[in-house]
Amino acid sequence: MSNDTYHFKIGRFECTAVSDGTLTYTPPAFPPPATLLFANAPKERLEQMLLEHNLQSEQWVEWTSPYICLVAKTDDHLVLVDTGAGGLASTTGRLMQNLREARIAPEDIDTVILTHGHPDHIGGNIDVGGNPAFPNARYVMWKDEWDFWTSEQAEQKLDEHVREILVKFARENLPPIQGKVDLFNREKEIVPGIRAVAAPGHTPGHMALEISSDGESLLCIADSALHPIHLQQLDWHAAVDFAPDQAVNTRRKILHRAADQKALILAFHFPFPGIGRIDQKGDGWRWQPIDTAR
Ligand SMILES: [Zn+2]
Repeated sequence: MSNDTYHFKIGRFECTAVSDGTLTYTPPAFPPPATLLFANAPKERLEQMLLEHNLQSEQWVEWTSPYICLVAKTDDHLVLVDTGAGGLASTTGRLMQNLREARIAPEDIDTVILTHGHPDHIGGNIDVGGNPAFPNARYVMWKDEWDFWTSEQAEQKLDEHVREILVKFARENLPPIQGKVDLFNREKEIVPGIRAVAAPGHTPGHMALEISSDGESLLCIADSALHPIHLQQLDWHAAVDFAPDQAVNTRRKILHRAADQKALILAFHFPFPGIGRIDQKGDGWRWQPIDTAR
């Protein structure tokens, strides 16, 4: 298996998880991983949970996160979900190269869905010349999300330590697609078989997706959970969640939905390819990654 692409099917739809690379979150630019990911976790419970996942807080000094985009070939459309982080770091911005290696031409993509406006999800919107990197695509985003990042709101409401980089990426990557973006503020079908699901909290207009074909479904939860421990400890929010209570609520709802539908899940920041199912465990769920060796 390639470490950069993973092919699978949802009913008739041919899907490919495509890596944009990884980013290592290291102090002092970021808080230590346990604080970054589980900002409100009670200390003792946290230690216990980390041990269960073969982690120890003192030794867990940096978190390397994959960035995973998705291509879905539906009956009539070629859809890309998120564009990766572009030039955020030397280890990111691999999306284009990996698409080409998977024989997916950027020009053939007709729909780009942006789950939210963080740098790791919109950073590949434009090419080096500042033009849309997917020239024949219409872009799709939740309206509240677009409004937040393209107005003064972001600057006014974000914490100081993250504001500069987040605003910089939004200013670079959103205005160039302005004439090509469809905005909406209710759940709806984006293309036949792909539905927008409201998932606010991580950011104001954060969006999940439900992809269904022939009775099978995949829930792209985007950043509704950043680490498998979030599935087990549903109330633990990340330091980067904009509205923590809302983020936690959204996570509960979306995981219930996945469990009810026995859906596959794609989580943008989980170990590549980020695809798996969830099993009930206590008050939460346990992550069951798919077997990629098959
Ligand atoms: Zn993210």
